[in-house]
Amino acid sequence: MGFKIAIDGPAGAGKSTMAKAIASKLNYIYIDTGAMYRAMALFLIRNGIDSLEEEKISRKCQEADITIQHVNGEQIVYLNEENVNTLIRTEQVGNMASASSVNRDVRQKLVELQRKLAETDDVVMDGRDIGTQVLPDADLKIYLTADPEVRAKRRYAELLEKGMDADFEKIKADIVERDHRDMTREISPLKKAKDAILLDTSEFEIEQSIASILGLYEACLKNKNKE
Ligand code: C5P
Repeated sequence: MGFKIAIDGPAGAGKSTMAKAIASKLNYIYIDTGAMYRAMALFLIRNGIDSLEEEKISRKCQEADITIQHVNGEQIVYLNEENVNTLIRTEQVGNMASASSVNRDVRQKLVELQRKLAETDDVVMDGRDIGTQVLPDADLKIYLTADPEVRAKRRYAELLEKGMDADFEKIKADIVERDHRDMTREISPLKKAKDAILLDTSEFEIEQSIASILGLYEACLKNKNKE
């Protein structure tokens, strides 16, 4: 059993930036679970399925073979053997991922895969339900959040940097809608696990947030060694 770090929080809180940096510093494997929900969403979009067609989603999701590989520390997501890393980063896929991730069968399939991936290695896993559902026994749980305005600004900058089209007001509205859906869904809603540490990064630069998490990690390790 490796050491498990779970990072949960709303869209644009900086989870993947933090998780990637922490994994690279500690030489842990980074698992981005949102990317798996995105790959599933891409599969559903390609099959012409609407986000409200619950039964079709339940049936069709069984045909999506989603796998993960790590190359030079970077996670690559395969959808039926096709590398979809770039294709899943659009707002359309993000919104479909948020809508289709409420589906019980989609979650069951992906949670199983996520648990398997974390079985043996030291991992940093980020998502919405890692501390509460996927890895309830994680050694360190962080709930990362920031003001919605700040999160929208970060997402906007991220998209511009990638050379993608972006509309700030639309991104902000999508973030608020996605938060609401993620937090109020019936199965595995986004919430802070009881034993997670809340970290609000609204006022933090990236380096400060990374340093805070590494500090929490060191403290956690010390405590564990005392046990
Ligand atoms: O984090 P990211 O924006 O890539 O996630 C896309 C969507 O996938 C989220 O809005 C959320 O609805 C869903 N998701 C989830 N559980 C996870 C990770 C992501 O429901 N563990």
